[in-house]
Amino acid sequence: MTGAGSVECAVVGLGVLGAASLLALARAGVSCVGLEAGRVGHPDGGSGGETRIFRTAVATGPDHVRLLDRSRELWTGVPGAPFTACGALTVGTRDDARVRAVALPGRTTVFGAAAAAARWPAHVLGADEVAVLDPGGGLLDAGAATRGLVAQARRAGAGVREEVTVLGIGTRRGRAVLHTVDGETVADSVVVATGHGDGLVPGVAGIEQRRVVLSWFGVRDPALFAPAAFPPGVHTAAPAHTFFPTVDGATIKINHQQPQPRVHSPADHHPPVEAGYTRDWADAVAARLDGMSARPARLETYVEGYTRQRRGVVALTAGAPRTVTLGGFSGQGFKYAPAVGELVADLVRTGRSRSPAFAPALAVGG
Ligand SMILES: Cc1cc2nc3c(=O)[nH]c(=O)nc-3n(C[C@H](O)[C@H](O)[C@H](O)COP(=O)(O)OP(=O)(O)OC[C@H]3O[C@@H](n4cnc5c(N)ncnc54)[C@H](O)[C@@H]3O)c2cc1C
Repeated sequence: MTGAGSVECAVVGLGVLGAASLLALARAGVSCVGLEAGRVGHPDGGSGGETRIFRTAVATGPDHVRLLDRSRELWTGVPGAPFTACGALTVGTRDDARVRAVALPGRTTVFGAAAAAARWPAHVLGADEVAVLDPGGGLLDAGAATRGLVAQARRAGAGVREEVTVLGIGTRRGRAVLHTVDGETVADSVVVATGHGDGLVPGVAGIEQRRVVLSWFGVRDPALFAPAAFPPGVHTAAPAHTFFPTVDGATIKINHQQPQPRVHSPADHHPPVEAGYTRDWADAVAARLDGMSARPARLETYVEGYTRQRRGVVALTAGAPRTVTLGGFSGQGFKYAPAVGELVADLVRTGRSRSPAFAPALAVGG
C-alpha cells in the first residue's frame, strides 16, 4: 500500500488537539486516519513538560466553561488515567482582577489566607491573599493523555500512522492529496493540527510562536507537594507563575509568566534559555512555598502558538476540500482538547459547529 489510501478525513499531527479530533471523528463514524511525524505522546511539541493544568473556571465566558465541562467528562474516560481530579487553584490578592474573574459563584470556593494555609500547607499566603479552588480542575499527564486519546481513536476505528511526516497537501478533483515519503493519502477533508510545525495550509494569520520555559525545583518535604495537597494552579501576584505538584517525588514545576521571545523555525522544538534565567524571581516564589529550593534542578523549553486575543483558532477554510486548521491556543489548548475535537468533527461533517467558542466556522480563505 502506498500512503494510507483513501479516507473521508485525514488528520495531520497527533498532538493533543489532533488526537482529540481523530477520536471525535472516529466516534462520529467518519473513516479517518491520523498522520504523526513522531511517536504519539512525544515531548517535542505541545505535550512536552510532563503535566498540564486543567480548570473549568475561566474568565472567557460561558461558552468556554461549557466546553471545559465537556472536556472534563471526556478526560475522565481516557484510558491510562491521565487526569487526576485534585482541583486547581488561583492564588492572589482578594482584589486582583484575575482572582475575581475566576471566583464564579457555584463553581469555585474562595478561601481566606488562614483557611487556605490549613488546607494546602505548602502555600504561604499574605494576609490580603486568597486561594480560589476550582474543584472540577485537576492535573493532566500530558504524554499519557495524548496516547490515551489516540488509543481510544484506534478502538473507535481510526487509522494511525506514526513517524510519517506530511510533506505537502495538494488537491485532485476536489479531494485533498497528502504527500508523504511513502506515497500519498487521499481524503475528502483534512484537519491540520501541526502545532508550531510547518504551516501546510495558508490562511490563519496572527499566530505567533513563542518560547515557554519550565523550571523544576527541589522541595524539602515532597509529601506537602503531592497533587492532593498541592493542586496545580496560578499565583497572580508578581512574579506571576503557574505551579505544578511533584510527579517524581522530589521536584515541583514552575512556569514563570513573563514575555518570551518568538521562535521562528518550525524545526526548533526546544529553544535555548539564557544562564541565570531564574535568578530574578525564584527567591520570591520560594518565599511563598514552604521548603522549595530557589536553585533550579532542571530547566526545559518548549514552544506554543499565541494569538493577540489569547484564544485558540479553529478555522474552516472555504471551498473544497474542506480543511480545518487548529492553532494559537495561547497556553490553554490542552485542557480544551477533547471538546475542541468534537467541534472539529462537527466542522468536518457539516461545516458548522455546536459552539461559538474559538471562532469556529471562521472562513479564512479559498
Ligand atoms: C510548556 C507548555 C505548558 C503549557 N501548559 C498548559 C496548561 O497547563 N494547560 C493547558 O490547557 N494548556 C497548556 N499549554 C498549551 C497546550 O499544551 C497546547 O495548546 C497544546 O498542547 C497544543 O497542542 P497541538 O496538538 O496543537 O500541538 P502539538 O502538541 O505541538 O502537536 C502537533 C503535532 O503535529 C506533528 N506534526 C507537525 N508537523 C507535521 C507534519 N508535517 N506531518 C505530520 N505531523 C506533524 C508534531 O510532531 C506534533 O506531534 C502549554 C503549552 C506549553 C508549550
